[in-house]
Amino acid sequence: MDRSEVIQAVVENQVEFIELQFTDIFGIMKSVSIPSEELGKALSGEIMFDGSAIDGFVRIEESDMYLRPDLDTFLILPWAEYPKEARLICDIVDSEGNDFSGCPRNTLKRVIRESADKGYTLQVGPECEFFMFHTTDNGEPSRITHDRASYFDMAPQDLGGNARKDIVRTLKDMGFSVEASHHENAPGQHEIDFRYSDALNAADSIMTFKMVVRLIAKRHGLHATFMPKPSFGVSGSGMHLNLSLSSEDGTNLFFDGSDALKMSKLAYSFMAGLLTHAREYTAVTNPTVNSYKRLVSGYEAPALISWSSRNRSPLIRVPSIIRDSTRIELRSPDSSANPYTAIAAVLAAGMDGVLNDLDPGAPLNSNLYDLSQKEIDEKGIRRLPYNLYEAVNCLNESALMKDTLGDHIFEKLTEACMKEWDNYSSQITAWEIERYLQRF
Ligand code: GLN
Ligand code: MG
Ligand code: MG
Ligand code: MG
Repeated sequence: MDRSEVIQAVVENQVEFIELQFTDIFGIMKSVSIPSEELGKALSGEIMFDGSAIDGFVRIEESDMYLRPDLDTFLILPWAEYPKEARLICDIVDSEGNDFSGCPRNTLKRVIRESADKGYTLQVGPECEFFMFHTTDNGEPSRITHDRASYFDMAPQDLGGNARKDIVRTLKDMGFSVEASHHENAPGQHEIDFRYSDALNAADSIMTFKMVVRLIAKRHGLHATFMPKPSFGVSGSGMHLNLSLSSEDGTNLFFDGSDALKMSKLAYSFMAGLLTHAREYTAVTNPTVNSYKRLVSGYEAPALISWSSRNRSPLIRVPSIIRDSTRIELRSPDSSANPYTAIAAVLAAGMDGVLNDLDPGAPLNSNLYDLSQKEIDEKGIRRLPYNLYEAVNCLNESALMKDTLGDHIFEKLTEACMKEWDNYSSQITAWEIERYLQRF
């Protein structure tokens, strides 16, 4: 869309308010609402905000920041019938007019440009899982689910099934091509998959998707959460990323019909990059204490760094394909990640594999959950970081990630994750009370 098309859409649809949205370093969506009379000013990048009020941005002394709307992200929000509302996703510009290096969307755009210069465009198909829980009489979220269903169960016409259909309907109204939606493994757990797209679009879509899921669930009296592992003993929620590289004309460069898995050499080396740097980017793709409660054996989430064409226990799975749809599925990320920095980190790791012609080694097609520690050691299989502390230390030592995220985001993120870990480590948990209070 260009400037005049946006203005025309606002006038024709009698849009009264426009939400200018952006995402902070920690993946939280922020928004400022402007009346449509201010649109001209917004489109000229003249809307200012106080950067020091946003976590991880800047200090008071340098706090004037500007929003630069990306016109291609213009969308009328279908749930606001009257007054009509639209949104524009924005990049952040500092007071000198430069791209602000603490803006995750700027960061992703930079990393995308770097691989585009080499002739590669990353395509991303996300699979976001989430839970829907009942709320209490006070409106607080509980962990009580509305069903006892499991993977692919036909959702009965209960609250969850209806809410999910309503979410899909809303997403379609907003231009998403939803490919599938289904009940996931745990009670109250769902998944909605939308069609793959270029990396920037995919990151924008993930942010929009989470907003829509929460909002529509709420209208059904439910609390939707993307928390990675809300309940012990059942599956957690992942944000699998299906990844491939295409050329500028859209040809899938991961496809090679002569290979047993229909994978090109490029695909193998990209995958090798993801395996090699897995320990370095995990704090970015899994940035919370809770993320690591999901990355354990037995719930179809990965704990070990390996790849396979068959089962769902390794970090990377190569799905069987129809025609030339070759892609690799990275299974570790979860939705507590900032999708912009997570996709940037993953792209940089894969590209490093391509540039250095790395080899992913042989696949491990057995169920990794069955391996003993001895077998894991003998096979030389590395593990994903065990907790946030280990993950941040791995991130801290990564020159590739420092380069990719830029100094600003790298420092703020490692600092925040470490603080989060310190805070968590000093808590006395229900598990400890139950285990120790009577015993000692
Ligand atoms: N919920 C699992 C995870 O945490 C994935 C299950 C699946 O999609 N088959 O990643
Ligand atoms: Mg899926
Ligand atoms: Mg799933
Ligand atoms: Mg999947």
